[in-house]
Amino acid sequence: MRHLKPTESISASSKEQLRVLAETVPQFVWATQPDGYLEYWNQRYIDYLQISPESLRGYGWRQFLHPDDLERVVTTRTRSLETGEPYEIEYRLRDGRTGTYRWFLSRGAPVRNEAGKIVRWFGTCTDIEDQKHTEEALRQSQERVQALMESSIIGIVVADGETIVEANDAFFQMTGYCREEVQSRLLSFPKITLPEYAARDQQTWAEIAVSRPVKPYETAYICKDGRELPILAGGVALAGHASQTIGFVLDNSARHELERRKDDFISMASHELKTPLTSLKLQTQLLRRQLAKQGNTRSTDVLARMEEQVNHLERLVGELLDVSKIQSGRLEYLQEIVDLDALLHAVAEIMQQVSATHTFVVRGTLDVPLSGDKSRLEQVFINLLSNAIKYSPAGSTVEVDMSQGAETVTVSVRDHGMGIPQEQREKIFERFYRAFDSAQKTIPGLGMGLYIVEGIVKSHGGTITVDSALGKGSTFQVTLPLKGIASHP
Ligand code: ADP
Repeated sequence: MRHLKPTESISASSKEQLRVLAETVPQFVWATQPDGYLEYWNQRYIDYLQISPESLRGYGWRQFLHPDDLERVVTTRTRSLETGEPYEIEYRLRDGRTGTYRWFLSRGAPVRNEAGKIVRWFGTCTDIEDQKHTEEALRQSQERVQALMESSIIGIVVADGETIVEANDAFFQMTGYCREEVQSRLLSFPKITLPEYAARDQQTWAEIAVSRPVKPYETAYICKDGRELPILAGGVALAGHASQTIGFVLDNSARHELERRKDDFISMASHELKTPLTSLKLQTQLLRRQLAKQGNTRSTDVLARMEEQVNHLERLVGELLDVSKIQSGRLEYLQEIVDLDALLHAVAEIMQQVSATHTFVVRGTLDVPLSGDKSRLEQVFINLLSNAIKYSPAGSTVEVDMSQGAETVTVSVRDHGMGIPQEQREKIFERFYRAFDSAQKTIPGLGMGLYIVEGIVKSHGGTITVDSALGKGSTFQVTLPLKGIASHP
């Protein structure tokens, strides 16, 4: 700092230059006597306070200080005036025009003469209101992130590539791993993910890297003690750092346990129902035959209706069993030579006999046999044709088209019914899924048919897709490899 000689005074032209300088800077500029008595300020200062120079002179500015800051400011300044140490202090000053307060950073420094005696204090006030808002927003956002990290609700992991570099307590509690392992970079996703999920997970993390947030998906980790932990995971890449991701992990074991119990129940219930039903059916048939021999037509009619209901129940229970077996991968398939062309004609014919309301049209021919399970393939097309009838108006046509490629055959079943909304087209193949549209709700069903159809088709190495236009109809297309089951591992 330059010392002023006692005799030295700022020349008039220098003074003018300093004044011009003080008027051009965006801050408030001020000067006080050694005891803090304000004797100079720039125009910007009084413009802000909206106060007359007379009122500002001396200590008038203090009345513009926020009451909560007054004591702190006075104490700090008094200490500096006593020690001669420059100071920096943040406080709020009232805007004379609006009456609202804005944050300022005030800096003060002493000017000494050659003897080292303070002859004046110079200072500035810089508007830091916007900076304060930014700081506050940042603080709040950090607080929120911290609260989330510390909550024991969800596990959170931060990863660099495949390596986990940070994790919260919830994650450690869930998996049994510890912070030290993370700090030593010993944990990575490939290492803690159950092998059967590894390929899918890797693809998911590759998706995140191209900065697409990944919707929650089901996977499973291997815990520290070797236990398998089903989880629901999701994640997002940090903007500008594609290799850095934040992952969210939710313990999914309760849902898995419920699913398992539901599957066990369906499996047990369908088995338990099957045996008495079979016996009931046999005995009804027996009774009907005996009564027929005795010429009791009234009772045989009643028994025939009973049998119809028993058959219906038997089909439902059979489907439940199939669903349960497909779910657990226990549905067994025969490997036979199937004449699909004949099978489709036969199925269409049967359907035509039982449903006089619709007209069935079969087009195309297939002249190569297929390897597969005949009755299961029959089940596929009976299901698709039954649905076509169920979901289209009486009097309409159901068309079955077949075509043949070098290694595949394609069969499409088209109806002219209500169609399927776009957002439901994937879901209809899920177990027990039924469309929630009110028109469809009135049509009976349990949402098992298409799940079974897809299960059988996939086991034959084939695919099933659906194309649909609302109010116009749907087309289900089944493509099967000629090698059929043999092509499927
Ligand atoms: P279900 O017919 O017993 O409900 P499915 O598994 O066969 O069960 O079908 C699932 C859902 O798909 C049905 O509830 C229905 O909403 C829809 N769906 C299936 N086939 C058709 C079709 N041909 N036209 C319109 N909707 C259909």
